Amino acid sequence: MRYSKALIPTVKETPSDAEIVSHQLMLRAGLMRKIASGTYMYLPAGMRVLNKVMNIVREEMDRSGAQESLAPCVHPIELWQQTGRDVDYGETLGTFTDRHGRGNVLAPTAEEAFTFLGASEINSYKQLPLNLYQISFKYRDEFRPRFGVLRSREFIMKDAYSFHPDDECLQKTYMEMYDAYCRIFERAGVDYVIVEAETGEMGGSGSHQFTVPCENGEDVIVYTEEGGRAWNIEKAPVDPPVKVEAVDVGAMEDVHTPGVGTIEEVCRFLKTQASEMIKTLILKTAEGEVVGVLLRGDHELNDEKITQLLGGVGYEMADDATVFDVTGAAVGFAGPVGLAENVSRVFVDPGVAAMGAGISGANKTDYHVKNVVPGRDFAIEGEKVQVADVRNAVEGDTYDGKPLKFKRGIEVGQVFKLGTKYSEKLGAKFLDADGVEKPCLMGCYGIGINRIMASAIELGNDDNGIIWPISIAPWEVIITLAGATDEIVEAGEKLYNELTAAGVEVLLDDRDVRAGVKFKDADLLGIPVRVTIGKKSLADGKVEMKLRTASEREDMELDKASEEVA
Ligand code: ATP
Ligand code: MG
Ligand code: MG
Ligand code: MG
Repeated sequence: MRYSKALIPTVKETPSDAEIVSHQLMLRAGLMRKIASGTYMYLPAGMRVLNKVMNIVREEMDRSGAQESLAPCVHPIELWQQTGRDVDYGETLGTFTDRHGRGNVLAPTAEEAFTFLGASEINSYKQLPLNLYQISFKYRDEFRPRFGVLRSREFIMKDAYSFHPDDECLQKTYMEMYDAYCRIFERAGVDYVIVEAETGEMGGSGSHQFTVPCENGEDVIVYTEEGGRAWNIEKAPVDPPVKVEAVDVGAMEDVHTPGVGTIEEVCRFLKTQASEMIKTLILKTAEGEVVGVLLRGDHELNDEKITQLLGGVGYEMADDATVFDVTGAAVGFAGPVGLAENVSRVFVDPGVAAMGAGISGANKTDYHVKNVVPGRDFAIEGEKVQVADVRNAVEGDTYDGKPLKFKRGIEVGQVFKLGTKYSEKLGAKFLDADGVEKPCLMGCYGIGINRIMASAIELGNDDNGIIWPISIAPWEVIITLAGATDEIVEAGEKLYNELTAAGVEVLLDDRDVRAGVKFKDADLLGIPVRVTIGKKSLADGKVEMKLRTASEREDMELDKASEEVA
């Protein structure tokens, strides 16, 4: 590719609405542009990266025995009604009615579609196991899209769905997918940790999440160094077990059971359950009066927003209602924040809660933990919560005698054992060897393609720009022509042709701009190898090579350059 012909609109200034480094650099390096909140257009350089990630994913899926297929982006809502997810998925589900009055879903995931396919195509145990995958756009009406492509409304996901006659077979494929995921993240050059995860609105019996450890991640993972256990905080174990169920209670009524009673305790509970991700709390009495509002930092709270949080109903603030500003609290809410006698409902800004740490069972509007009672399920002692429940743990607590540690991370992939939840509802059955009809056991496996791209930038960057792992860099080599004399152009063309012929992906910077500008753009774009052809070194038959990660340049014979670089 010739830079002079390419659309790579780099910009110097850091875009003001981009909060984290990957978002900033994706805009600055001209990889993508926003067209609306949470929706982006990929430009050619960004698309090259996405394609590379998709190729790695595709190769590893194929190698694992999964078969590529493709479901439509729009599904009939009837399929979702059959599984109940038209309701369970909550407001994140994008829907529309077509001209004939039919309901449609903009697929956020495709269990229903693939189980529908399984129901029509699978008859016998002889066809099993079957593992189908697709790489396609998914749509989620995220409450608060942010961090660029890390939480966007439209994103590319690889999702796979497997069908099995029994548990053993499901377990085998589950582990094959688990291994394939490890290979994918290794090849894409992103560090990852695997944690035990919550099944969320997918349902099912077991799940692991692949998480890229980094400060800007929305998820919290908790782990023990000794013994090597790790969980998403949403999933961390409860010991001794208490019955925690996620049901639509519209609010966390049971948090406020007799004997709890204080906002402080509720806050403490929320702190440990939901961490600092929760920005707004609205406290309401049984009569529906708003008696308190808690907000954090940059969160904008106005009448419209409160009405929205209360499910569209109007509200009236009690005369003595309090608005607490808890800006700057390290975790959770600064306390003590006062007491309200008869608070019965606590509304948590659901979209914010659903991001990352979440309340147990949330990730869904108004689905909150029930049957958890502070004092019964965990004790509050002084400033520190002594826990049997790791979800409520803080730094310094132990589990099983082992110190617990915390890290933030980006969820890049998740694998689930679904059991028969979907196959029963949608009739994906098979005849076993004895001619008995049974529902298939299923698994499903998702990877966020765009998140892998952004995670790689979160992990690899410096003041000058992106530092790509070579496996997903938009180009492997950039040839920078430092000047436009015939000799330089000729040498550049020659090297470009040789490297291209050797299968190296090269961007030839033939633009009519200063060399300094070219160097800056090469760094910003993060191309792993830069070869500079300048007048001076060329006179000695040499070119200059520099790795993106190195500070030193080295001279190379022009004649040998293509061999060395390749
Ligand atoms: P999160 O907890 O971050 O909302 P999720 O658990 O809802 O993610 P899954 O349903 O497990 O996501 O989807 C599979 C993968 O799709 C995720 O592991 C993630 O990599 C990606 N993904 C999910 N939501 C988004 C989004 N809004 N933008 C970009 N990628 C996403
Ligand atoms: Mg989600
Ligand atoms: Mg998740
Ligand atoms: Mg997930």
